[in-house]
Amino acid sequence: MSNQIIVIVEHLKGNIEDISFEMLGKGKEIAGNIGGELVALLMGSGVDGMAGQLGIADNIIYVDDANLEEYNPQAYCKTVAAVVGDKQPKMVMIGNTSMGMDIAGGVSVDQNMPFIAYVSGISTDGSTVTSSLYGGKMDVDSSPSADGFIVSIIAGSFPADAGRSEGSPAVEKVAAPDLSGLSVQFKQLIEPEGGDVDITQQEVLISVGRGIQSDENLPMAEELAVKLGGAISCSRPIVDSKWLAKTRQVGKSGLKVKPKLYLALGISGAPEHIEGMKDADLIIAVNTDPNAPIFDYAHYGIVQDLFDFIPALSDKL
Ligand SMILES: Cc1cc2nc3c(=O)[nH]c(=O)nc-3n(C[C@H](O)[C@H](O)[C@H](O)COP(=O)(O)OP(=O)(O)OC[C@H]3O[C@@H](n4cnc5c(N)ncnc54)[C@H](O)[C@@H]3O)c2cc1C
Repeated sequence: MSNQIIVIVEHLKGNIEDISFEMLGKGKEIAGNIGGELVALLMGSGVDGMAGQLGIADNIIYVDDANLEEYNPQAYCKTVAAVVGDKQPKMVMIGNTSMGMDIAGGVSVDQNMPFIAYVSGISTDGSTVTSSLYGGKMDVDSSPSADGFIVSIIAGSFPADAGRSEGSPAVEKVAAPDLSGLSVQFKQLIEPEGGDVDITQQEVLISVGRGIQSDENLPMAEELAVKLGGAISCSRPIVDSKWLAKTRQVGKSGLKVKPKLYLALGISGAPEHIEGMKDADLIIAVNTDPNAPIFDYAHYGIVQDLFDFIPALSDKL
């Protein structure tokens, strides 16, 4: 086994995803503490220009193949497995994303390497890994195998800025494994509705739940969001009712957010919702029910009707 930490670089339409920088920053810290080497694995076709954004890595492994031009789970899984098999790294870091979750399980089986999913923390020497169980209801610390292991990292777990660095690390070009005869073929990229704000990047989120009662009441929450310099997000019933776009949904089947302020208005605090917002710096919940579970997670709880709370706060602002 080598002392390498390999980060799988995720990119879409020419942009490296933030999760890659999160992992590179954390990987660099661990590599520094164990005298290891941080390696970025970049796969695609004609994307070698991205290497300049991966300056934090000690080394880049670049695999260029026409079959890797668009994301294909089978092709990417085979390629990662081939590189991992060759390099025998200490740790492989993959995003806990749609793409990462596709790849990680396959590589784990192929390489007989333990895989810890839903990871939100790793100790500075990589010896303890914290991951979520039961849809975020419980965190568990594991001591991973000394013979090498795979982790998939939940987006927002580490600062992305720590992994951003321009530079020109050494690039090792590696040929793709045999990718002929793939049974999975890329057909079409279906993009989400464009033009909406990215709630994962907002510092202030005003989040509404079923307590808002009707889409006619949304403007008062939106007005509050504007006054506080933030954006509006919501629980799932609001999206199911088509009052807000899916891009605004926080939670298990929505997005994981980590704003400085999360103001929850009329949200009960179901586990599926909590999973998406429990890491916010400051959580303030407004709910008429003093026993609402959201109060177990809120730093400040206000037992009040949101239709009294919103105008009162708006007036103050
Ligand atoms: C597989 C799966 C995935 C899911 N994924 C998600 C997800 O990603 N995100 C998500 O949010 N949910 C998700 N859910 C749904 C989740 O279980 C809950 O049903 C949902 O979060 C409840 O939303 P809510 O809190 O807005 O509504 P409710 O649970 O109905 O709560 C409404 C709250 O508003 C309060 N209230 C009512 N009127 C007022 C008022 N005037 N002023 C103040 N408070 C008031 C009530 O006391 C209550 O606590 C998922 C469920 C499943 C099974």
